[in-house]
Amino acid sequence: MTLLVVEGLNKRFGGVTAARDVSFSLDAGELLAVIGPNGAGKSTTFGMVGGQLRPDSGSVSLLGEPITGLPSRAIWRKGVGRTFQVAQTFVSMTVAENVQMALVSHHGRTRNLLARTRALYRPEALDLLDRVGMRGDADRPVAELAYGDVKRVELAIALAAAPKLLLMDEPTAGMAPRERAALMALTAGIARRDRIGVLFTEHDMDAVFAHADRILVLVRGEIIARGSPDEVRGNARVKQVYLGE
Ligand code: ADP
Ligand code: MG
Repeated sequence: MTLLVVEGLNKRFGGVTAARDVSFSLDAGELLAVIGPNGAGKSTTFGMVGGQLRPDSGSVSLLGEPITGLPSRAIWRKGVGRTFQVAQTFVSMTVAENVQMALVSHHGRTRNLLARTRALYRPEALDLLDRVGMRGDADRPVAELAYGDVKRVELAIALAAAPKLLLMDEPTAGMAPRERAALMALTAGIARRDRIGVLFTEHDMDAVFAHADRILVLVRGEIIARGSPDEVRGNARVKQVYLGE
């Protein structure tokens, strides 16, 4: 069954149409990139899928179940994970504790007792850190890490909730080009192996064309092109409107 189906989403902010009739679908293990200039409606679209924003009309369903307009926490519970443009870690805690907190939260335990968190889910946290290449830094405070490594920890935190779908809004913002490529490759490998669908936005076109299975091009809230990286790269309208050629 198709993992995510988005049909006819519309969203206006006052006089601005941030999304107009946005429709697409995404399978398990597939990486779908949403590209487009600033203000195109990428974050708005992500917000409507993740439940941070309520669409004016249209529908979102996950594995056939409607999730349109549900609160973000409920959507997260159904298996939609998120990473954010700005890293959302607790910098005074260690890398492992951050991931343990996420595991505690996912398993529905109380998350207010740091002392208990320290003992809970440590093996599971180390396993997740292994998958993102951060096990060696498990006991360092997040505050000591390079930014690119914080982003890897964020990925481990998102994976702690065992998501079926990951929403990644500019996951590599603020990172150096080499780190970007590495984080995207890591994400793509995990997604394909674990059959997680990934919806991502990214300014770095090299990363998009290297890792996306399919690409949607948004301009002023509308999808103007879609297809494989080769199809989108060769699309005359995309070249004209977006790539500036
Ligand atoms: P992108 O992520 O592609 O840069 P956004 O989805 O953030 O674009 O924004 C799309 C349009 O909607 C922009 O014109 C933006 O100014 C507007 N917009 C986004 N969020 C809000 C909001 N909360 N209130 C008013 N306007 C908004
Ligand atoms: Mg945005």
